[in-house]
Amino acid sequence: MQELEGNLQAVRQRIRAAEGAAARPEGSVRLLAVSKTYPADTLRAAYGFGQREFGENYLQEAMEKQDGLADLDIVWHFIGPIQSNKTRPLAERFDWVHGVDRLKIAQRLNDQRPEGMAPLNVCIQVNIGGEASKSGVAPADLAGLAHAVALLPRLRLRGLMAIPAPSGDPMRQREACRRLRELLEGLAMAELDTLSMGMSDDLEAAVAEGATIVRIGTAIFGRRSRPEPSLRP
Ligand SMILES: *Cc1c(COP(=O)(O)O)cnc(C)c1O
Repeated sequence: MQELEGNLQAVRQRIRAAEGAAARPEGSVRLLAVSKTYPADTLRAAYGFGQREFGENYLQEAMEKQDGLADLDIVWHFIGPIQSNKTRPLAERFDWVHGVDRLKIAQRLNDQRPEGMAPLNVCIQVNIGGEASKSGVAPADLAGLAHAVALLPRLRLRGLMAIPAPSGDPMRQREACRRLRELLEGLAMAELDTLSMGMSDDLEAAVAEGATIVRIGTAIFGRRSRPEPSLRP
């Protein structure tokens, strides 16, 4: 647990340093703690150290943690691949869904978002080329999808998300992140305020290119022992 607190502090420090290096205001980047494969107790501990936003990839696992942590004021993000027959729990139980990549999914989320809740925050996942995951809309189809999603009243389209192929080369990391930023700028939709990009290994590149949400797992919680089907090419 002491290690967890130190890791969280170190990641916050990395974010602050990257904001400073890019001459961006402190606090302009939100830290999403990616807690897939880690048990509810670990999330509770991170919450105790001030972390409020958590990202999960697997629906069943996420729902169990949500039930166990219902007493905490957590902002829940779903960042995994979305199956169209499993949208209802996403619409009913999450604050954000990052991986929207087709209109059918967006329409189902819109139809299933309960009346009493605020509109569901969504990001469109873009396959910026050589993505680590096969999901994501092709850049050529992005504008059409974005304008259609923006019309859905129970959704609030916030911006774009990507999972670039891993690279140890900071220039290539920057290039991939820059591509996503340029796609967002190209949409020219003033209401979009979110670039969800940057993981443990490319946080600095992502912040330099304008990330507003970084999704950090390993650097906070340590290496995962369970394999990740969703990220296998
Ligand atoms: C697992 C995962 C992350 C976190 O990756 P780390 O390298 O562990 O920081 C971020 N985004 C998505 C979509 C993921 O599946």
